[in-house]
Amino acid sequence: MGKGSSEMPNARTNYWNPIIETLPQEKLSRIQLKNFRHYLQYAKEHSDFYRKKYKAIDPRAIETKADIRQLPLIDKEALRKAQEGREPFPFGEILGVPLEEVSTFRQTSGTTGKPVYVAESYESWQWRVEVWCHILWMAGFRETDRVFIPFGYNVYVAFWEGHFAAEKLGCMVIPGGALDTIGRINKIQEIKANALLNTPTYGLHLAQTATKMGLNPADLGIERMLCAGEPLPQATRRRLEDIWQAEVYDHIGGTEPCAWAAMCRERRGLHIMEPFFLVEILDMETLTREVDEGELGVAVVTPLGRRSFPLIRFNTNDIVRKGPGNCACGRSSMMISEVAGRADDLCKIRGVLFTPVAVEELIRREFPEIGEYEVSVDCKGITDEISLKIEPCEEVGIERIKNLIPKLSERLKVKTNLRFNVDCAAKGELERYTLKAKRFKDLRKAK
Ligand SMILES: [Zn+2]
Repeated sequence: MGKGSSEMPNARTNYWNPIIETLPQEKLSRIQLKNFRHYLQYAKEHSDFYRKKYKAIDPRAIETKADIRQLPLIDKEALRKAQEGREPFPFGEILGVPLEEVSTFRQTSGTTGKPVYVAESYESWQWRVEVWCHILWMAGFRETDRVFIPFGYNVYVAFWEGHFAAEKLGCMVIPGGALDTIGRINKIQEIKANALLNTPTYGLHLAQTATKMGLNPADLGIERMLCAGEPLPQATRRRLEDIWQAEVYDHIGGTEPCAWAAMCRERRGLHIMEPFFLVEILDMETLTREVDEGELGVAVVTPLGRRSFPLIRFNTNDIVRKGPGNCACGRSSMMISEVAGRADDLCKIRGVLFTPVAVEELIRREFPEIGEYEVSVDCKGITDEISLKIEPCEEVGIERIKNLIPKLSERLKVKTNLRFNVDCAAKGELERYTLKAKRFKDLRKAK
């Protein structure tokens, strides 16, 4: 499919599954409730963790979403505890199928503690792949695309899901894990890849490397890019679109629940993948009330159908804004209008609530001369001090970003109500990330 020939005139080409994707909300809700009851029953019968946790709960008594909100939440820590030192190794008491049915596993990155081992039976893995087919199709991936994935996927889930789903769609999939960045750019040119799956950080890094090689990334023929592995603020997404002259798509998910919301071609918020998931967006203080449209809340996700790794009311810690429905694409699902960050990253600095995404948003939107950056907060004496180190883009000299410091400091103050000590870093000094960029460090926690 060449540039400009991707019009999608009818339901058959618009949707991966025209029936599911356009079901009215009442029907979606009915299906979710029915599937939730079945899923809970299954988990109680097949997983020791849920057998104990839900001992007193009768799934048949759950009739409304309000009934579901009475059930306890599960977080990453509970999953770790149910695995550590428990049989069968390494999945522990969560496992929902006999061990011999497990055909592979994926694990969390462990950036916030010991990893969680997510068991996949062949059937449960195919469930994830089908969800990802919806995501890719919604982002305009088609069977004529050549999808390049510039990563070694190891045990991390998103690129495996993307790989399998792109194959199921009929795309030609090229894994680029064994190559270095220059080798990857050469491969993109050699096989005329027109689509990428990568992290936003790597999307920027790949473009920088191409520039260093004397190429214009926009000339490489990439038409679409689906980002995974990190949050993607609107400003970063637009910057990627600008550099690559391609459509750039976001989604949200995780190793435990799978990807549960993604962007359609309107690119105005994310569609929740209903009815595969029951997603509750709960108020941040009490986690008991479903927020209203326009309000921020924590996403609690139940993937309705993953038998090998049952997950009921999983607190993702993702803070999202509940959006309006009625997307012009015709999909009927509930939407989120913004992913605001991780609850674990929200912190108070000098009494002010701070989210690191605000810094990324500002830098990517207003200061394209800055390539890498790193924020750290530390307690010096009795007050918290915030440091921001900035490193220039490949084609920009250090003097130029030194001159930006006064303006950047002022804009940060306006945007966050906090004072930053901004300093320059030499080219290549700051850490480069390809997965799970960690550009914010709270050094107070280590003390
Ligand atoms: Zn849409």
